[in-house]
Amino acid sequence: MEINLISDTVTKPSAGMLNAMMSAEVGDDVFKADPTVNALEEKAAALFGTEAALYFPSGTMTNQTAIKLHTQPGDQLICDKYAHVYNYEGGGVSFNSGVSCKLVDGHRGMMTAEQVEAAINPPDFYHSPLTSLVCIENTTNKGGGACWDFKELKRIKEVCERHGLRYHLDGARLWNALVAKNESPEQYGALFDSISICLSKGLGCPVGSVLVGNQDLIDRAMRVRKVFGGGMRQAGFLAAAGIYALDNHTERLAEDHRKAKEIGAVLQSLPIISKVEPIETNIVIFELEEAKMPADDFVNYLKDQNVHLIGMGQGKLRIVTHLDYSDEEHDVFLSILKNL
Ligand SMILES: *Cc1c(COP(=O)(O)O)cnc(C)c1O
Repeated sequence: MEINLISDTVTKPSAGMLNAMMSAEVGDDVFKADPTVNALEEKAAALFGTEAALYFPSGTMTNQTAIKLHTQPGDQLICDKYAHVYNYEGGGVSFNSGVSCKLVDGHRGMMTAEQVEAAINPPDFYHSPLTSLVCIENTTNKGGGACWDFKELKRIKEVCERHGLRYHLDGARLWNALVAKNESPEQYGALFDSISICLSKGLGCPVGSVLVGNQDLIDRAMRVRKVFGGGMRQAGFLAAAGIYALDNHTERLAEDHRKAKEIGAVLQSLPIISKVEPIETNIVIFELEEAKMPADDFVNYLKDQNVHLIGMGQGKLRIVTHLDYSDEEHDVFLSILKNL
């Protein structure tokens, strides 16, 4: 038994999902003639209450497209220092859009409205880059799966409106937040200018992300997606997995969250663990008492027991629960930890 807790991206399509994929009706999506892609886009737009949606091969491409559409070269966006768009998209913000990031020193990847407002460059001070966009991440990845308080998101929206800034949500794991906080996609759709949602994380698809927004944004996003090389042909085979996931794999995220909390509770009880960050969704970030057991030794010890996890740098380790992490694997993993 291999227990893979490296990421929620390691899942493989279930029998039901594969069946939906294999029986998909397809066409050439570059001509907008793939009925399954169209159906997925309509479904996503309806869920979020937005005018339109567009299917993409990756979450990086949806974020990068949104940033391209909301900015001009030389502009600056505001994000938390932990943001995926800043840390993990290969420098795409500068490569694709010629934009710099003003980093906010937030808490677990989340900023306050006051911090965002203070990070805006005065628009008439032409020595500084022009601030044009605020990027939010929910749940936060590097922040340990933390969920935003929706009231703070509304307060940041007010800052954006006061200063004429666009408002983008990197919702790679938004569904985890929706389930954990009992929120609806519509309330997010109404707040943001664009939202990127990954189907390939907790929702268990092999590929795919969706960008939602108004019709004008999505019309323009089609060109940028093409420029980025993301125009796909018979993509309905993949989009069918997305439809299946939205129908079958959202509510069950609560199970991943419960397992993450149970893992956290056992870690907390171990003398070799110095700190477990609060667990709200499916990500567990923790640190070891280095004098008792260095992080590398811990990772290697677990690897010998066929349990896989990764380091996040600075002595932090990460565990992510997911659709393919079974009850049986969970029992085995908890007993390995307890016997440590
Ligand atoms: C995974 C992830 C993305 C997109 O990643 P892809 O691997 O390109 O799909 C974007 N933002 C966050 C927070 C993520 O965790």
